[in-house]
Amino acid sequence: MILTMPHMREPRQNPHVAAAGLLAWYDANRRVLPWRAMPGEMPDPYRVWLSEVMLQQTTVAAVAGYYREFTNRWPCVDALAAASLDEVRGAWAGLGYYARARNLHETAQMVAHEHGGRFPSSAAALRRLPGVGPYTAGAIAAIAFDEREAAVDANAERVIARFFAVEEPLPRSKPTLRNLAQSLVPARRAGDFAQALMDLGATVCTPKRPSCSRCPWKKNCRAFSLGIEESLPRKAPRRVRPLRRGAAFVARDRNGAILLVKRPEKGLLGGMLQPPLGPWSASFPRRSDALKQAPFRAEWRRRPGVVSHGFTHFELELEVWRAEVRARGGSTGSWLAPHALATAALPTLMRKIIAHAFDPEFAQPAR
Ligand code: SF4
Repeated sequence: MILTMPHMREPRQNPHVAAAGLLAWYDANRRVLPWRAMPGEMPDPYRVWLSEVMLQQTTVAAVAGYYREFTNRWPCVDALAAASLDEVRGAWAGLGYYARARNLHETAQMVAHEHGGRFPSSAAALRRLPGVGPYTAGAIAAIAFDEREAAVDANAERVIARFFAVEEPLPRSKPTLRNLAQSLVPARRAGDFAQALMDLGATVCTPKRPSCSRCPWKKNCRAFSLGIEESLPRKAPRRVRPLRRGAAFVARDRNGAILLVKRPEKGLLGGMLQPPLGPWSASFPRRSDALKQAPFRAEWRRRPGVVSHGFTHFELELEVWRAEVRARGGSTGSWLAPHALATAALPTLMRKIIAHAFDPEFAQPAR
């Protein structure tokens, strides 16, 4: 089959040749990754699923340590299902996008209790598991079960947009890119093809300055032949993320313990620990309003500077108020000793707030 698209010019692409070329390149250049089966080994669906969930919105370098810890502690899906949600959340702390930890735990329980400990083997069935979207389902189905499925994440979108010179901007072009990627998946070695596309995007067809001279697709790549590879994929202008502001309150007792409260189970950073926070709005609260938001009366001092953190849909800036207290009390929550803080289920934002509260650079009283 020869693929043709009305807006495309030569060179033409034969999917069989493209797939064979990429697989040959992969056989010689595949990355060694902790979750990747070695050649000739059967991939373990549990490990494929775990790594794919961890890799959502997260880099390979950030995931490697977490993956090792999870698989040492919970070597199979039944073991993960038997863990408590708080244990899973604690092990996940620092990896971000915390809804993933809750979905991970829920999926492990579904697989253990409703599927007899075996992951469903088709992308369609995998989609029914919590936290498994089209990309993750395609990746697991292809890698773990060799189903003829494309796994199209941002890396694959970039490679495919260039290979076919798709000039329609993202995100509108997503369905086109998915169909084009699917058209290249070979009948055999679908899992290797998915991983080869990932590796090509990560190491050769990089966002900036792709290394076309060492690409297995350079002879047939339309963007390369047109000299437009660096300008693809085109992207619709980004909407500016709104800025929210608020106050955080870090109380420390004489033993160095910090007051933490648990966030509501549902919503942003659901169920994670945090120092008490005030509500978020377009501006910082005035001093008198901030002190009313504090968890109890104390000698609260505002630290200079702010803690900034980017979420998917908004930017957050928090002023940090600190109090050294003689006695605990007057507030709900738990006081965590310094040694317990190190392993607590604290998102990165909350660790930044605590560090800011005690950073010697900001040691002078603010007001
Ligand atoms: S030739 Fe260049 S632009 Fe085309 S797929 Fe290869 S690295 Fe990407």
